[in-house]
Order: sequence, then C-alpha cells, then structure tokens
Amino acid sequence: MSFENFDLHPSILKAIQRCGYTKPTSVQSQAIPKVLAGFDVIASANTGTGKTASFVLPALQLISKRRFVRRKYGKPSVLILTPTRELANQVSQAIRTYGKFLRFSSISLVGGVPYGPQLKSLSRPVDIVVATPGRLIDLMNRRNIDLSEVKFMVLDEADRMLDMGFVDEVTKIADMTAAERQTVLFTATWDNTLAALAQRLLNEPQRIQIDTKNTQQNIEQRLHVADDLEHKNRLLDYLLEDELLTQAIIFSATKVGADRLAKELRAQGHAAAALHGDMKQGARNRTLTNLRRGKLRLLVATDVAARGIDVSTISHVINFDIPRFAEDYVHRIGRTGRAGSEGTAISFALPDDLIHLERIERYTGQKIPQQVISGLEPTRRLRRPKSKKRNSRRAYSAPNNRKSYRAATKNGGRYRNNQPPAHAHKRRQRLSDST
Ligand code: AMP
Repeated sequence: MSFENFDLHPSILKAIQRCGYTKPTSVQSQAIPKVLAGFDVIASANTGTGKTASFVLPALQLISKRRFVRRKYGKPSVLILTPTRELANQVSQAIRTYGKFLRFSSISLVGGVPYGPQLKSLSRPVDIVVATPGRLIDLMNRRNIDLSEVKFMVLDEADRMLDMGFVDEVTKIADMTAAERQTVLFTATWDNTLAALAQRLLNEPQRIQIDTKNTQQNIEQRLHVADDLEHKNRLLDYLLEDELLTQAIIFSATKVGADRLAKELRAQGHAAAALHGDMKQGARNRTLTNLRRGKLRLLVATDVAARGIDVSTISHVINFDIPRFAEDYVHRIGRTGRAGSEGTAISFALPDDLIHLERIERYTGQKIPQQVISGLEPTRRLRRPKSKKRNSRRAYSAPNNRKSYRAATKNGGRYRNNQPPAHAHKRRQRLSDST
C-alpha cells in the first residue's frame, strides 16, 4: 500500500513526500481509508506508530475539499483534543508539516500560556483547533469559541485524558459540537470508563487494533538492578559514556528528583535539563526546542511532561526510577525508536521494585533482560517487599494500574476508610501534572 492509494489532495501527498515517508504505517493504512470514508473510528494505537498522521491527513483532506461550511471567525470545523500541552504542540507541528502546501488556519489552545494571543487567533477565520480540555472549556465558558460547526472531532490519547479526570470536560465539549459530527478516538489502553465514553460519543465506530506488543520490537530493552540511589548514579555515569547514546530522556518519578538529577548532570558537564509540570509553559517549550535542536543531550523528565515528545534523535530512554504503572513504561520507551528506527530502553530497578517490574512484564508480555556491568554489580537481589503490617488489619493496597486508580479515586477521591495512603497524594499530583 502507498499513500497514493488514499486519493489524498496532491498538496498533502507532496508534503508527505517531503517528509520522506515511503509507505503508510500499519495504523495509517488501516485508519486513513475508514476515516476518509466518513466512519467513526476507535483505534487502539500507541505513540510511535504514526497515529498522528492517521487523523491529521484525513482532517487536512476534509479541509482541502472544504466539504464543510466556509471558514468562520472563531468557528472551527475540526477539533483535536489532547491530554497535554506537549502533545497538542506535537499535533500542531504535524498539522503544519503535512499541511505545508495547503491554505488553511490551525490554532493551538492550551493552558499555561496567556489568553491574549489565543483570543486574537480566535478573532480570525480558523479551520482546525488543537486543544487541551481545560483551556478549551475556559474559552467556551467565556464565549470566545463556538464549536457548533465542528464536524470532525479527534480524541487523541483518550485514555490519558480520562486518567487526568477530564471525562466531564470531554463530554461537555463534544455536546457543543455539531450533531452530525464524525468522531475518531485514539487510545493506547481500554477499559469500561472509556467504553462508556465511546458509546456516548461515537456512532457505530469501526475498530482498529494495533498490537502494543508488536510495536516496540525495534526497541532494545534491558534492566539493571541497583542497590540504592548512589548505585543508580554510578550506573547512569557509566551509561552516559556510551558514544551511541546521542540523546536520552531520563525518567524520574518526581519533579524534585528530575530537578536534582538535571542539576547534578549539568554540574558534571552534561548538556542536561529538566522537564516537569511545575515549570512554566514557556520554559517547557524552550527546553523542548533545545532538545529538538540538539542543544541538549539529556532531558530528565516526569511522565506527563514527557508525553507527546516526538524527537527522532532520541537514541535512549533511561528509567532512572521504574514506573509504577505498566502503561507508563510503554509510553516512556516509545520516546525512542520513533517510526521504526532503532532505540534502547534501559531501566534501573531497586531490590523492592520487583513488583513493578513484574507488572510491566505481564502487561507487555515480554521479559526485560537483566544485565550486569562489570565493576558495578549489585550486591542485593530483586525481591518482593515485605508488608509492614503483616499481622495487623489488611494493609491498604495501592491501585496497581490506572483503571483501579480511577476506581479508587471515584466518589470525590475517597479511599477505603476515607484514608488515602501517603503516596496517593503524590500520585494524584503527578496525574494532574498537565494542562
Ligand atoms: P506518532 O506515532 O504519530 O507520534 O508518529 C511517530 C513518528 O513517526 C513521527 O516522528 C512521524 O514523523 C513518523 N511517521 C509517521 N508516519 C510515518 C510513515 N508513514 N513513515 C515514516 N515515518 C512516519
């Protein structure tokens, strides 16, 4: 199959050629014809599979044919919702790239930046709006945007939008769009909450399933057991000497940890910077630009902040702290090995991290091979952490995936016995670390 088979506008085909794409990826060859034929579509596809083009190319095609009403002030005909600002920026960049030879207008409406320029852009004709739910709702409430002519709506990374608690916002936004709208939903994971949302928003959707397990075969994965933080630092120093490591994203569990590590790496002479949700949007954008331009070799990031980063030169992902949610592991390592290129993902695990490691391996269906570096051997082994309250009442069991996290935080965020565990606050903070 080639892009010519899709009967796309010649200007779009020209832009695709410029990108150097020779053939559509799997999700593209399955999704694009269905979307162009006007079906609602649910696609289970991860980042790195080429999913963005699967909805951006049909959106541009629809715009190019001007099947919709003429462009109007503040009344877009295409709406793309993303969970995070970074992903919104990434999608906007893809729209600029694939729409390079078309005449249309696309704007991005995300939080963390002043309203002024966004209001100005809404006072001009606009075709495509890429938005995060929070800022879009604000603008809707202020009557700065009218979605009544949105006939094509995309929910990108819908699972993450729900994880971040945006279910009501997404529903409210969808309710304001045209009744005869076409809706496309992309998600990496699937559960009942998402099924209920899809049932409400999509009409007889066609389903596309890209197998997660087969999409990351191009990423070499390995694991190092570390005795403690100091051992992790020594392992990292060793790995950073590798000349094949051109650029890396190093994942930290906390914002404070990301700042600390970035500072230490800079002190050692590395071109390193942190990226997390406590940073102002301007600083986040500048950091990403520096990464993209190759001015940074190392980016120390938290999960949400790193979502949507699409930099083809990222050779390595290093999980300095192993993720608690298996889905996060898949998303993290998907920052390397973009579009089928080779990538390396290295995780550090403390002895008590066995439980998290097992969850990840169950989820991906792959065993992560353990490696030992001569001179940096661990003295301790992976083990199951001992319960501190073995003989007392049943200890609180933390939600072990996003689905049970959502269930546990339902009903106003109340936990069993109304007692959230100490770490739950941090976890919730991490999940809200976005728009
Ligand atoms: P995505 O999954 O949308 O984040 O895309 C991942 C990467 O794949 C991006 O860097 C795209 O530029 C690239 N890409 C998208 N489609 C293709 C294609 N057909 N051939 C090669 N690379 C592609």
